[in-house]
Amino acid sequence: MSTPSVPFIDLKSQYVALKSNIDSRIQKVLDSGAYINGPEVTELEQKLAAHTGSKHCLAVSSGTDALLIPLMALGIGPGDEVITTAFSFIATAETIVLAGAKPVFVDIDKKTFNIDTTKIEKAITAKTKAIMPVSLYGQVSDLEEINALAKKHNLFVIEDTAQSYGAGYKNKKSGSMTTAAGTSFYPAKPLGCYGDGGAIFTNDDKLQIAMKEIREHGSEKRYFHTRLGVNGRLDTIQCAILLAKLERYDWEVEQRNHIASKFNEAFIGLDKVDSQFSTPFVKSGNKSVWAQYTLTLTHRENFQKKMQEFGVPTTVHYPMTMPDQPWYKENTPCQADITQSRWAANHVISLPMFPDMTEQQAQIIIDAVKKSVELSMKES
Ligand SMILES: *Cc1c(COP(=O)(O)O)cnc(C)c1O
Repeated sequence: MSTPSVPFIDLKSQYVALKSNIDSRIQKVLDSGAYINGPEVTELEQKLAAHTGSKHCLAVSSGTDALLIPLMALGIGPGDEVITTAFSFIATAETIVLAGAKPVFVDIDKKTFNIDTTKIEKAITAKTKAIMPVSLYGQVSDLEEINALAKKHNLFVIEDTAQSYGAGYKNKKSGSMTTAAGTSFYPAKPLGCYGDGGAIFTNDDKLQIAMKEIREHGSEKRYFHTRLGVNGRLDTIQCAILLAKLERYDWEVEQRNHIASKFNEAFIGLDKVDSQFSTPFVKSGNKSVWAQYTLTLTHRENFQKKMQEFGVPTTVHYPMTMPDQPWYKENTPCQADITQSRWAANHVISLPMFPDMTEQQAQIIIDAVKKSVELSMKES
């Protein structure tokens, strides 16, 4: 008998569940011929703005552009510094450098993996223009503290919500509480399209206009360019797909929370087997969308090998901090103590997480984790 296996993310079963809705929406775009800037773009922007509680939304070509465009629109560039976390996907730091500014890295909170707000003020200088917190793994950063610091020092805040679309923070939603926020619709993100995509959120009318112009080559009107811009539009077809997916997104978030609770409960006591073992910590007042369900443990490589033998794939998000990446080490050296970020880079591991996971699949994962933690401790 072959070992049953579980995918890391099952996008195909999600498609099957939404097939008729998605197919008919795609067909409508194909028939319309409005492949760029079609009516689905505005429809999606209005729905996403309403869903997050933001005044404005702008659909863009990727999560990376969703961070770069606000930086450009806010006039952040050479000579400026932007404070961000040391522990994220590289696009966070990359966009700061692409805008021409310098990323200033701050360590993370050991429990949430988000930027440690107690260490931000030390990193502020006369050159600091903005703070770019990342709401990692689906949980919103400590925005109340970050917004208070930004207000005190007259800084912008750009929330990287690539992993936290729809996440709750007190009574608000990720993306609605800062100067601007950028999310990603990369297929594996909580809300994903079928290619690259992203969106920007803001409550600021002027900033929205500037970002809209930058999205379209900096044009105020056709063939009249008052700003430096990019080609940052999101295809109409991707917007049509997202409109279908948005219809059951809140249900998906509940499913993800259900699976996460099941995992949390099943893993109680594993810290007695491995003292470094921990399940994800969600702060009270936060509602995670579980972009990742991420554990920490001691013998990661061995654990990962055992999990694979049990038919369960795992992924490390992320094996290196951003300032330790070769290009950044050389070009944007980090002065800060980033001990917690480095510890996380060496100990985190994410389990499969997707809304259509069956109870059997969840059980296969649970059994594999329990056995793999024990085996990997025993063998070392
Ligand atoms: C995925 C991701 C991005 C970039 O999004 P793309 O759509 O891939 O460009 C940025 N920041 C974080 C934290 C991400 O996870």
